[in-house]
Amino acid sequence: MAKKIPHRDKLEQIATIIAESKRVLILEHEKPDGDCIGSGLALALVVSSLGKKAMLLSQDPHPATYDFLPGAHLHTMTSCLEPEETDPDVTVFLDCTGPERAGEALSYARSKTWINIDHHVSNSQFGHASLVDPDAAATGELVFFLLKAMGAAIDTDVATCLYAALVSDTGGFRYQNTSPRCFHVAAELIDSGANPSQVADYLYETRSLSSLLLLKNALHTLALHKGGKLASIDVTAQMLKDARASFEDANSVIDYPRSIAGVEVALCFKENQDQATVHLSLRSRSKVDVSKVAVSLGGGGHPRAAGAVVEGTLEQVRARVFGVLDGLGIWTDS
Ligand code: 5GP
Ligand code: MN
Repeated sequence: MAKKIPHRDKLEQIATIIAESKRVLILEHEKPDGDCIGSGLALALVVSSLGKKAMLLSQDPHPATYDFLPGAHLHTMTSCLEPEETDPDVTVFLDCTGPERAGEALSYARSKTWINIDHHVSNSQFGHASLVDPDAAATGELVFFLLKAMGAAIDTDVATCLYAALVSDTGGFRYQNTSPRCFHVAAELIDSGANPSQVADYLYETRSLSSLLLLKNALHTLALHKGGKLASIDVTAQMLKDARASFEDANSVIDYPRSIAGVEVALCFKENQDQATVHLSLRSRSKVDVSKVAVSLGGGGHPRAAGAVVEGTLEQVRARVFGVLDGLGIWTDS
């Protein structure tokens, strides 16, 4: 069991701030993923159970994949209320490399105190109290330790949300961030009521038809470069329209170029509806630190999974990204 609580001082500082607050605003990053959704719902459920006002806020909707998670009544979108309608004592940023990652939700962070809980190596260390641990497999792992430091009970609902966060950011305990500590936390969450097969079924065995139709079209653009070490795939705005797919339906498209034998770096270019920006997803198998590439393009992430929103048409962004990758000089050795 995860007996020893890491980062005890920082966690106790954060726990004290939350204990002294009546209204807690929890912010997710733009286009929230399973880690920030699971972490956010878990924290919101606990804060609310303590008789405080908890609001989980995001600029973009939660993808339907996460509809099975409890606590949705505590989640709101920025389109549903004005910044002046919130009056938080404290704002907790989850899974955000910097405050700007919250997008439109940032203007709701009107409290004097900000808390930053994240596991991205590229975190800018913002906030009055911050806990940034790149060794954590997911932000959900850190929220688990925060709840322990708060002395909070982890019931089945909270355990399910945190377990989903861990599963989501480790790709079902397959990625390099999967650590002994992450398994210890997962085991405790299962002890507290999380159901592994149910969560896996929702996250990995259930897809929208639109996402498959989108994948069918995107696979036509799959291309290999640099002697097979670099692979790319495109998702255009037209493809999204043809498949009646949402942007989230494209989330797993990057898994396909990454899975090709011999590929070290995989890229997915997702054209935004305005066709003026492209969301780039980067993955690497074992050597290249793609978080550095993402940072140089104005984004961020982890060594093996990173992303950025880059201005320009798909072809302009592609040329720029290939230029950055060429500059790394990583393709010549074996
Ligand atoms: P994805 O490619 O799945 O969108 O994101 C992979 C990782 O990179 C995630 O940890 C995500 O938080 C991070 N990431 C994706 N897009 C951005 C971005 O625009 N800015 C920053 N800072 N991180 C990003
Ligand atoms: Mn995360």
